[in-house]
Amino acid sequence: MTTGEAAPIDGFASVEAGIVRACRDAQRERSSVTLVAVSKTFDVGAIMPVIAAGQRVFGENRVQEAKGKWPALIAAHPGLALHLIGPLQSNKAKDAVALFDAIHSVDRPSLCEALGKEIKNQNRRPDLFVQINTGEEPQKAGVAPADADDFIVRCRDTYGLTISGLMCIPPMDDAPAPHFALAAKIAKRNGLTQLSMGMSADFAIAIALGATHVRIGSAIFGTR
Ligand SMILES: *Cc1c(COP(=O)(O)O)cnc(C)c1O
Repeated sequence: MTTGEAAPIDGFASVEAGIVRACRDAQRERSSVTLVAVSKTFDVGAIMPVIAAGQRVFGENRVQEAKGKWPALIAAHPGLALHLIGPLQSNKAKDAVALFDAIHSVDRPSLCEALGKEIKNQNRRPDLFVQINTGEEPQKAGVAPADADDFIVRCRDTYGLTISGLMCIPPMDDAPAPHFALAAKIAKRNGLTQLSMGMSADFAIAIALGATHVRIGSAIFGTR
């Protein structure tokens, strides 16, 4: 765990200003974009000032780390929402459904089955995003673009899941815009309205291309 070197409040304020600007440029309402403040690797001491500044939606990429940090914060601050943005193992589906309000990394049938079971058992309905591997990178999680339509139908018809939208992480060395545009196109033809895309370096481009959720870590909390 690291404590933010840069003052988290300055980072948060400039990210918020950047989102406002990107929304204005794209002729979108600020309220159409949810900032998911990605607090992975940062401890409660670094998170508290961002909560105090008014931020309510946070993202973590590991279930175990989130279980250690968030239950006390959530109990102390009603109205917080926690999003899982990292890969999820099926055997952690139970913990994930219990703790998270949204899961951005739905990407395979075994996970769909585990999530369907836990959603029923716990009577909790986190928002679900299907992760699309827009760059078709072998080492990266996500459904291949060519398989996306079938997978989305299967989520609904076979596993009884309600899918809210899509998530993507463009390849490190690529221009992000074509990846965001591809995710937006797949979402549109499947009738999905939510798009989780854009991080610290590229959120303005993602907002221009229709992002409804931007996942921003280092620009708020400092380098990890
Ligand atoms: C870490 C992470 C982010 C945030 O990245 P930054 O570059 O720090 O803004 C966003 N999405 C996912 C899936 C991540 O793992």
